[in-house]
Amino acid sequence: MKIKIAELFYSIQGEGRYMGVPSVFLRVFGCNFKCAGFGMPRGELSKEAEELAEVSHMFDKYEELPLVSTGCDSYASWHPDFKNLSPMLTTDAIVERIIEILPHGEWRDEHLVITGGEPLLGWQRAYPDLLSHPKMQGLKEITFETNGTQEISKEFGLYLHTWAHHHDKDFCREITFSVSAKLPCSGEKWEEAILPKVVCDYEEYGTAYLKFVIATEQDFTDAEHAIAVYRKQGFTGHVYLMPVGGVETVYAMNNRNVALLAMKHGLRYSDRLQVPLFKNEWGT
Ligand code: SF4
Repeated sequence: MKIKIAELFYSIQGEGRYMGVPSVFLRVFGCNFKCAGFGMPRGELSKEAEELAEVSHMFDKYEELPLVSTGCDSYASWHPDFKNLSPMLTTDAIVERIIEILPHGEWRDEHLVITGGEPLLGWQRAYPDLLSHPKMQGLKEITFETNGTQEISKEFGLYLHTWAHHHDKDFCREITFSVSAKLPCSGEKWEEAILPKVVCDYEEYGTAYLKFVIATEQDFTDAEHAIAVYRKQGFTGHVYLMPVGGVETVYAMNNRNVALLAMKHGLRYSDRLQVPLFKNEWGT
């Protein structure tokens, strides 16, 4: 089996439940959204990704790509004009590269983040092959960073169940779905982005939590509405508020306000440690 890999790197998880945990990030190619509304006045869409796509021939690798201050900060992981930067690798080759970048050449306390793009599109069919590889046996914690719109396939669901309910605890794996549900500030349509049944179903296979990107009071009003909709469907997981900002200037403008908002409403705050620590550069 093969997976188209946008990035594979080792860093510290900067967001959500595993903030601060050493992690291997497997960023797969492809997304069903564009999220061009991030960082823009409401109703307007960013052109940064499209403008960069027009000069995509100037870039040979991810590290050369400019950061954007509006729109999706991982635009090259789904924009077709950058697909040549993402090789299609066999699961064996991916495992070998993972083992190479782990500090001890084997899994110890590190956690695996499968991100994107949107990682629960068609690549679900390749994950059992990847995660069952003998060199992946020491891996105990996996997070899927998803936008919460993709159902788990029947085949992958059966596979996930075997971990969650294995009688031998050495075979159990902790599965987390970090659901960054897209509010209207993303530029995506509510009815396509807020799909409570899909997210409630993730709770059958592990721990799911919601993470909302917040820039303005209107975003928080939208988040409250979304939380009510998810809860009504039966969602039981935690909710995090996270400041908008793929670049430090934008992040620094609202991280404290979002933290205060989370405290005021008894919700969890997620930082974006990769922004102050590593400037959110590609590969961090
Ligand atoms: S869902 Fe995530 S990866 Fe896809 S466009 Fe939106 S922010 Fe980018």
